[in-house]
Amino acid sequence: MNLQCRIDLASKYKAGPQIARVLSEDWCTRELYCPACDSDQLTGSKPNNPAVDFECKTCEQPFQLKSLRHWSPGKVVDAGYEAMMRAIRADRTPNLLLLQYSNLWMGQNLLLVPRMFFTESIIEKRTALGPHARRAGWVGCNILLGAIPADGRIHVIRDGVPALKEQVRDEFSRVRRLAELPPSVRGWTLDVLRIVRGLGKSNFSLKEMYEFESDLKALHPLNRNVRPKIRQQLQVLRDFGLIRFSSRGMYSVGA
Ligand SMILES: [Zn+2]
Repeated sequence: MNLQCRIDLASKYKAGPQIARVLSEDWCTRELYCPACDSDQLTGSKPNNPAVDFECKTCEQPFQLKSLRHWSPGKVVDAGYEAMMRAIRADRTPNLLLLQYSNLWMGQNLLLVPRMFFTESIIEKRTALGPHARRAGWVGCNILLGAIPADGRIHVIRDGVPALKEQVRDEFSRVRRLAELPPSVRGWTLDVLRIVRGLGKSNFSLKEMYEFESDLKALHPLNRNVRPKIRQQLQVLRDFGLIRFSSRGMYSVGA
């Protein structure tokens, strides 16, 4: 993988954001492969769908690219809040590619968030634009990267070093079955998975999970039966091979 963007393409443009878009899109079509199948190419998408920048012609997975010089690992600014919530509920969010490039236009970090990790819990509503803004009243959103379980943050490039293609595809393949869950259920599943990963332990108990009852209740205020829901979602995670049941009330992580 050649991490250098083609700087000569910038000469036709003046605006910084436009240059960033042209250079990073060109880089993706040259260097990026599909993480979801064995295709070694992503193709630029039709301009009539602004949420999708690339797709894989083989498996039809859609991708959106965001390229930035700086990003915080905690959150990244996205577009309209309502449009994002509608896309999540309709299961229409594309896979996200977050590319951080250096001052010299070298790829530094490329984070892939598989599309099924977009849930309402990771979207933060921003304050509405003030009355004097061009789009007064418009409400944007942030994607809370830190609220995504580690399974949903796949590092294609980390600190200037590309991961092995096989490893990226393995990581994608491990979580792809989550797409089988309807979005209304998946939000719960991924909130429970995030807590499991956040424990940072190879073995954990149901009792430890119950300590997060109030956090989960805050995320899902309409649900009164949080404990049964935790147990149910641990079963879903087990069925998908993301955790194992070791003994009564005890679980373990790993393959
Ligand atoms: Zn593919």
